[in-house]
Amino acid sequence: MHDCDVLVIGAGPVGAAFALALARAPAAAPLRILLVEAQPAAVLAEIPVQEPRALALSPRSRKLLERVGVWTPELAARACPYQTMEVWDRSTAGHISFDSAEIHQPQLGHILGQQALVAALTAALRAQPNIALRCPAKVTAIERSAGGGCGVRLGEELVRTALLIAADGPDSPVREHFGIATGRWDPEQQALIAVLRTDRSHGHCARQWFASTGPLAFLPLAGDHHHVAIVWSQDRAAAERLQMLDEQALAAELEIASEGALGAVTLASEPRWLPLRQHHADTYVLPGVALLGDAAHVVHPLAGQGVNLGLADAEVLAAELAAALEGGLSVADPAALARYQRRRRPENLAMLAAMRGFKTLFGDTHLPVALLRAAGMTAFERLAPLKHLVMAAAAGERWTP
Ligand SMILES: Cc1cc2nc3c(=O)[nH]c(=O)nc-3n(C[C@H](O)[C@H](O)[C@H](O)COP(=O)(O)OP(=O)(O)OC[C@H]3O[C@@H](n4cnc5c(N)ncnc54)[C@H](O)[C@@H]3O)c2cc1C
Repeated sequence: MHDCDVLVIGAGPVGAAFALALARAPAAAPLRILLVEAQPAAVLAEIPVQEPRALALSPRSRKLLERVGVWTPELAARACPYQTMEVWDRSTAGHISFDSAEIHQPQLGHILGQQALVAALTAALRAQPNIALRCPAKVTAIERSAGGGCGVRLGEELVRTALLIAADGPDSPVREHFGIATGRWDPEQQALIAVLRTDRSHGHCARQWFASTGPLAFLPLAGDHHHVAIVWSQDRAAAERLQMLDEQALAAELEIASEGALGAVTLASEPRWLPLRQHHADTYVLPGVALLGDAAHVVHPLAGQGVNLGLADAEVLAAELAAALEGGLSVADPAALARYQRRRRPENLAMLAAMRGFKTLFGDTHLPVALLRAAGMTAFERLAPLKHLVMAAAAGERWTP
């Protein structure tokens, strides 16, 4: 006998969105869904004034959040829509610009603080009758149940479930417990994340500069149009040099790296350095178990796709499980789990490969490679149909001229 039907470990953006997407499917109404999160409720609900970890949400991700009732006017007010995106190669004259008008969309996406999203998801979880949220609670052990499913220990308590979902982040204890191997790539970079105050208005434009030591992104934030969240990925040696600087000197380096595009900049939050890595689980599913989001794949943040890939996992798995339930099958139906894996692996793998290719391409300072890169960017800029296709793919949409 199971204590719940689905046990989700991790109430980060992906685990929370998955639980809501499944719980709101009509066929899943009788399910008992338990979500277990290690962090206390107060941390989940906390929204910092200047939030450095900003997510570039694709239109597909926003639509999922709308469907699960999380994209409320309050959350939308915290999100900054961006209509244009400018990309420069600092070591050549290469430049590409994207405009949402070219694909007949009101915006290319939204920039939103990760904590603001987690807080909105947590509020929606609490309002959902067939979801119970347990936090803070940590999984301490997992065992296979004789009749199928798993038993999960939360301290002294044993909770038996038909289906176990690992949405427990990049270090996924569940993935480790089941011995699922990962293909790893170390970009040998660290990322600086911070909020900057800028002299000029960001104009709802996301900007990115590629340099040989790593890319710098300026992501526009909602509010006074003079704040951007930055992600500055830097090779280890360059990162170590920057870590020695005081805030004023760091801001001066950022102004140079951004070619003064937004004028003088000052730090509006503590600068935080995070190690970067990329990995991909060899399998997303085992009998009665599925991995989602960063537990299954971690992608370099240069394209800002981590959460988008994870939310797409959540959407597809919830849809496959709901379809199995509608057909009178079990919520842990192996064919539904296999279909989830088949639908999600190719897109996730393609994104990971693209990020690795970008790092290699832009990290190469040899003149022939740099010239090819500049020529490629210029040609791409002139090839409208290809550009539109890339923009639509990044938005998670099909593009029709
Ligand atoms: C510098 C940087 C910039 C980024 N920028 C972007 C961006 O612009 N756009 C984008 O889409 N993505 C971005 N990402 C990636 C994004 O932050 C992640 O993809 C996203 O957080 C993954 O969500 P998740 O829910 O899978 O995992 P997480 O957010 O890691 O959530 C996992 C949850 O599981 C809980 N947990 C873990 N172990 C246990 C346990 N044993 N018991 C109970 N609970 C547990 C944790 O407390 C946590 O709440 C960036 C990442 C970095 C490092």
